[in-house]
Amino acid sequence: MCLFCKIVNKEIPSNIILEDDEFIAFHDINPKAPIHILAIPKVHVDSFNDVSPELMANMTVFIQSIAKEVQIVQSGYRVITNIGENGGQEVKHLHFHVLGGTKLKWGHFSDADTQGHF
Ligand code: AMP
Ligand code: ZN
Repeated sequence: MCLFCKIVNKEIPSNIILEDDEFIAFHDINPKAPIHILAIPKVHVDSFNDVSPELMANMTVFIQSIAKEVQIVQSGYRVITNIGENGGQEVKHLHFHVLGGTKLKWGHFSDADTQGHF
């Protein structure tokens, strides 16, 4: 069972912010911003490559409700999902990073060599 499935099953503790039948949101253990939350589906999905439009539709609403819950709707925030090797995905269970609470720099998340190739 993967790390985030264990968090879903409460086998590994996490600092939960929101939870419903389909999703769970918890604080990232290694925050990169004052607010750094991970939103995941309870069902195991490897990455964004494999998510269905139906699950994604509900995920959107869930992420919006996280932003409301932690009051970053007006100040703004960033939603990121890393996919695969080049995307820097470390945990192979679909997750969306929700970052906010300060003015976020962009370079940190796009610091690749622009001469890279496929
Ligand atoms: P990614 O690199 O996109 O796969 O992101 C994985 C994220 O999971 C990283 O930001 C980690 O800090 C975070 N993380 C790893 N283990 C835990 C955990 N037990 N609880 C909360 N966040 C975690
Ligand atoms: Zn999983």
